[in-house]
Amino acid sequence: MMKFVKTFLVTVALGVFSMGVSAQAATVVIDPGHGGAGLEGVGAVYAPYVEKALTMDVATKLCDELNASGISTSMTRTTDTALSLADRAARAKSEGAKLLVSIHFNASGPHDKSGTEVWTSMAGNHYKVGSECGNQILANISALGLSNKGVKVRGGSRGDYYGVIRYGVAQGIPTIIVEHCFIDNAYDRSILESKGTAAFAHADAVGISTFLGSATGQALVNGTLDVSPATAVAGVPAATSVASSSLKANFSATDWQWLLSHWAYTGNAEAIISQVPLGDLQSLVSEHNKGNI
Ligand SMILES: [Zn+2]
Repeated sequence: MMKFVKTFLVTVALGVFSMGVSAQAATVVIDPGHGGAGLEGVGAVYAPYVEKALTMDVATKLCDELNASGISTSMTRTTDTALSLADRAARAKSEGAKLLVSIHFNASGPHDKSGTEVWTSMAGNHYKVGSECGNQILANISALGLSNKGVKVRGGSRGDYYGVIRYGVAQGIPTIIVEHCFIDNAYDRSILESKGTAAFAHADAVGISTFLGSATGQALVNGTLDVSPATAVAGVPAATSVASSSLKANFSATDWQWLLSHWAYTGNAEAIISQVPLGDLQSLVSEHNKGNI
């Protein structure tokens, strides 16, 4: 299996280079989440796990695996230092990144959540790249035995809620956050302990490589996919004439009202909703009803 995957990765990588990407540029920039001191620097903590160390461990192994297969990478940080979310995106830009992947592990207040999930931007082709790449990664992580909670989007008062996504997209780089599993959940932790961080890094690598070999991935790398700098609310029609009645029919009145309230800050929630695929809206509502959002 390992041999097959390695062969496949090399094949994909050769395809990437044949499309004229400079050997100096990092096709994929990997961001080990958190770093440095303080609550935000350390990230989630659940003995013996500390998120900032786990993210560095997985990110390093992921870069090694991608590099070995010929896919050029760079990391936003290689030491235990604090780095702002804007600087992470700026470093990705300076490396010529086509894709920014931020590595994280999750925890929840009540310690009752589990599973693997990916967050990405709501904006146009940034969503297309994020959801397609995210789903490839999630298919591989969930194969380790974790619940696949899907690719998610979250809006805030400034557009995309999560800063690294907002800044990445503003630099014209599709950005995803991979929340590998919940380190404060006994079941998820048993998977992490039994499979090891290398298995998570391998799942990420196969997912990223598979995505880069897809039609969307190739269009992203060769520059034919429009991922110009965007904000999640840019480009939304100003008029409120978006026909959403057919979409609305898929939801209960309560769920539809929640979707409208979720994007109310944009001033045109229906227009935003009409840009998000039905399946993603349904999983958003489903997660909301389970108390996860
Ligand atoms: Zn985190």
